[in-house]
Amino acid sequence: MTDIGERLSETELCPTDLLAMQEAAFARDIARMHARAAEFVAVSCPACGDRAGTPAFEKFGFSYLRCGTCRTLYMSPRPSEAVLADYYRNSENYAVWAKHVFPASEAARREKIHRPWLGRIVGYCDRFGVPRGTLVEIGPGFGTFAAVATESGAFRRVVAIEPTPELAEACRQRGVEVVEARVEDVSTEALPEADVVVAFEVIEHLFEPRRFIRGIGPRLRKGGLLVLSCPNGEGFDIATLGAESLAVDAEHVNLFNPSALARLLADEGYEVVESTTPGRLDAEFVREAALAGRVRLDPFLERVLITEWERLGWPFQQFLAAHGLSSHMWTVARRL
Ligand SMILES: [Zn+2]
Repeated sequence: MTDIGERLSETELCPTDLLAMQEAAFARDIARMHARAAEFVAVSCPACGDRAGTPAFEKFGFSYLRCGTCRTLYMSPRPSEAVLADYYRNSENYAVWAKHVFPASEAARREKIHRPWLGRIVGYCDRFGVPRGTLVEIGPGFGTFAAVATESGAFRRVVAIEPTPELAEACRQRGVEVVEARVEDVSTEALPEADVVVAFEVIEHLFEPRRFIRGIGPRLRKGGLLVLSCPNGEGFDIATLGAESLAVDAEHVNLFNPSALARLLADEGYEVVESTTPGRLDAEFVREAALAGRVRLDPFLERVLITEWERLGWPFQQFLAAHGLSSHMWTVARRL
């Protein structure tokens, strides 16, 4: 892995340097992906399989289609699994993040993000009558959430499934039990059936999300809960900004929406018991894009997001979140 952060120590780095460094690293990541364009694969809709997607927008030279049946936005042609695996293994942007951004923000993220997530999951268990036996997290990253869950004692056992050696090690260092494998390859001896499986911000990155959902099946007991979070392609931020949305990037090859994901889950033997869009940043992101001149707002939105922002911004965001219109969604499904 090329560590471009090596030359600068943490203390020398100001946020502007860091941003520039990340942008340069990201540009090189993208260029590396484009260099293998011959290995890109045209795909049908990752949620419903419909083949007749129509062009939605382009970004970083990648094409996104919108499914005419379920309205999922998806990159097609998209990098093959081998190209994606190579991208994540060699990503310079992730290296910068891991070295400079993550360590500085982990403590705050624990309290502001991961502890509330755990509270939400405990709430689901209580509400849907699921015992707090084994909680499995797929794609734990550095293991912050899994560590919070482990330390809390809210579940009898917490296990992270992580195939990447460095990330698996990061989880272990935080006291998290790890199975170092892909979910499809985990044996029943290594991990008995879970009561709850969670995957935060994972499915939007996958070449074939359906196969991932299918792979989880045997790991989750019947009646158990699968909790997924991901961007909502029909939310205000993405719907308004299109390619200008930060959620539209080279890594997010699938931008589902609540009903499309529910449909995919139903096909694979799940019943969605709750679907919410708790995102809090749509209004702010669209406002920032407008202030930076990256998007033109119609007079009504101009009033809500700019002229009367202090009065209307937060209530507008609350309205979006409460009505399935924010660009970040959580889906809770019960395995049938
Ligand atoms: Zn579709």
